[in-house]
Amino acid sequence: MSIYLNSLLLGLVGGFLINYLSDCLPQKRRPTRPLCNQCGQSLPLLAYLTLQQCAHCGERRRWRYLILYFASIFVVYWNQIYPVRLDFWLSLLVFIIFGVITVIDIEYRVVLFETVILGGVIFLLIGVARHGLLSTVLGGGIGFLVMFVLYWLGKLILRLKNKTSSTLDEEALGFGDVNLLTILGFLLGMPAILVALWIAIVSAGIFSLAVIFRLLLLKQYRSNVAIPYAPFLIFGAFALLYLVRP
Ligand SMILES: [Zn+2]
Repeated sequence: MSIYLNSLLLGLVGGFLINYLSDCLPQKRRPTRPLCNQCGQSLPLLAYLTLQQCAHCGERRRWRYLILYFASIFVVYWNQIYPVRLDFWLSLLVFIIFGVITVIDIEYRVVLFETVILGGVIFLLIGVARHGLLSTVLGGGIGFLVMFVLYWLGKLILRLKNKTSSTLDEEALGFGDVNLLTILGFLLGMPAILVALWIAIVSAGIFSLAVIFRLLLLKQYRSNVAIPYAPFLIFGAFALLYLVRP
């Protein structure tokens, strides 16, 4: 019984924190009163908690909030029945950080510097405690280098592709993805960060194929479909920490 009660209560707290931080950090860069993620006006706490429609812009606040509440409840439950690699409270903390970075990248296409710094310090401490200083620093360093090379390759390919139209200022990978793989490297250490990257590349590849296939079916294919990569990097780390038996 207490497992279910734990999952429900802590899952709701985790889901609230992910939703709340994903709303205020991109707009204000710090914790504020709860905000509408559409118009940025602040909402009364009770209206925010009960997912009421925004009184200012009429935004129906529903799916993302509900999905995150359910996901968070399930992850807390999972943490108690499955031998995940982190201890209970740390796995909840890491899940909240993962959730905030993922939601903000999907909604704003950005990995905020604030989340990288705060997450980085926490991941560094967890990394050193889990697998020692050397593996932690190596994981971060290798994560940075690999992603940095991919970042420049992406820039180069885009530049070659867009030689005729130099006004296009898009990026295949943002520098936020480089920062993100660095801090995930702290958390996972060496060589696990490379496994996480491999999972991320494979899952992003499958997702891209599915998107392209769908566009082809709808006859709307274009070659510059931009997809956010942070969720896949996070998924790689999540799979290693939460889904693979220690
Ligand atoms: Zn609003």
